[in-house]
Amino acid sequence: MTNNVVIVGAGHGGVSLCAALRNLGFDGNITLLSEEGDLPYHRPPLSKGFIVNDSGDADARLLLEPQAFYQDKRIDLRLNTRVSAVHPQSRSVQLADGSLLPYDHLVLATGARARTLTLPGSELDNILVLRTQAQARALRERLAHSQAVVIVGGGFIGLEVAATARKRGLQVTVLEGAARLMERSVSPSVSAHVAERFRAQGIGLELGSSVQAFEGDNGRVSAVLSATGRHPADLVLVGAGALPNSELAEAAGIACTNGILVDPQMRTSVPQVYAIGDCVNFESRYAGNTRLRLESIQNANDQARLVARLICGEQAHYDAVPWFWSDQGEIKLQMVGLAYGRTHCVTRGDPSQGRFSVFHYRDQQLIAVDSVNQPMEHILARKLLAAGISPDTSQAANTVFELKSLL
Ligand SMILES: Cc1cc2nc3c(=O)[nH]c(=O)nc-3n(C[C@H](O)[C@H](O)[C@H](O)COP(=O)(O)OP(=O)(O)OC[C@H]3O[C@@H](n4cnc5c(N)ncnc54)[C@H](O)[C@@H]3O)c2cc1C
Repeated sequence: MTNNVVIVGAGHGGVSLCAALRNLGFDGNITLLSEEGDLPYHRPPLSKGFIVNDSGDADARLLLEPQAFYQDKRIDLRLNTRVSAVHPQSRSVQLADGSLLPYDHLVLATGARARTLTLPGSELDNILVLRTQAQARALRERLAHSQAVVIVGGGFIGLEVAATARKRGLQVTVLEGAARLMERSVSPSVSAHVAERFRAQGIGLELGSSVQAFEGDNGRVSAVLSATGRHPADLVLVGAGALPNSELAEAAGIACTNGILVDPQMRTSVPQVYAIGDCVNFESRYAGNTRLRLESIQNANDQARLVARLICGEQAHYDAVPWFWSDQGEIKLQMVGLAYGRTHCVTRGDPSQGRFSVFHYRDQQLIAVDSVNQPMEHILARKLLAAGISPDTSQAANTVFELKSLL
């Protein structure tokens, strides 16, 4: 019996799925289709070291797997190959050149793309976004020839690039429309700590500063106009979030609402079609049984491993504790759980020492922990949340109390 698995998208989810299938002994055909021209690569370094790494090995260090992996594991990796349509009736995908590829199992791992702004002056040169390795190369090249960088958006990617550029000695300003940094993802005290550290490093930080327009000079950006004034810039990075790549699924009649809708087994509304990673919208008990989209390596990898097990005939469903990290210069942020329905928080450690964790509670239940330069506490918090164990608030706040004694 032929068993063709076709995977659309060779990012973290797509490549993890290939590895997991072979690890489980799957012996059928695996075709991995990527619209990008680069061998599959790690995305997190793109907003960190990669954009200032001028050494010749920067690309090689980014690879998710060495080139030989795809031959050794019999993965038919096709780069520069965009899927233009999915035909559920005939169980095939159509490539941009018109050819058809049949599948027994189709996995959509199409990820997300950077949100762009449509404002006066948005078309000017040197206004960039960051999602792909090609975009990171462009950013690296422009950073090397820039002096004043304005980052639009105080989320993870914007702040990571800001810290990296500042370390390189550039003048950096971050404009954030909300009242605090990373508002949707971390607690107010973590936002405040990061803002204070950034300012201490000489990074300009303007909150409540929604961008209205870009000014240019000879077709190239020269300033950003925002609610807080005019900010000179010879390079702008827009870090305004990401949009799910769900158009392919929608056109095939697959149900989508802010991403591709999947059930706990990552099945879409169409038989034999799964979806994983940044492009999916799923229900999570960590989000109070509401639907959400997560953009994280953990999520893409864990969903990939689950789908590999399902394709191999196992029974399982998705229930991983969400976790995420962000390296912003000297600050290592690690988040676990989701603070949906939070009623209160307690802080463990002293923020003025630059090392602390914030424990989020819904009533008596621990629901999330944000850690700043506290990797061991993050690991313990992952174990506590996975086991459904809640330290009481006095235990959580007491740095002498051994959290691991609860495990
Ligand atoms: C700059 C940056 C820094 C990040 N840092 C962190 C971090 O520190 N920690 C963390 O947890 N997460 C981080 N993330 C998020 C993380 O990279 C994503 O969550 C992860 O890449 C999601 O994997 P994925 O497989 O779902 O999608 P992706 O990795 O985006 O891969 C999807 C692939 O599908 C391709 N594709 C889409 N449509 C088609 C089509 N029709 N035909 C063929 N190919 C197609 C896309 O081109 C892309 O290559 C970062 C993301 C970025 C951009």
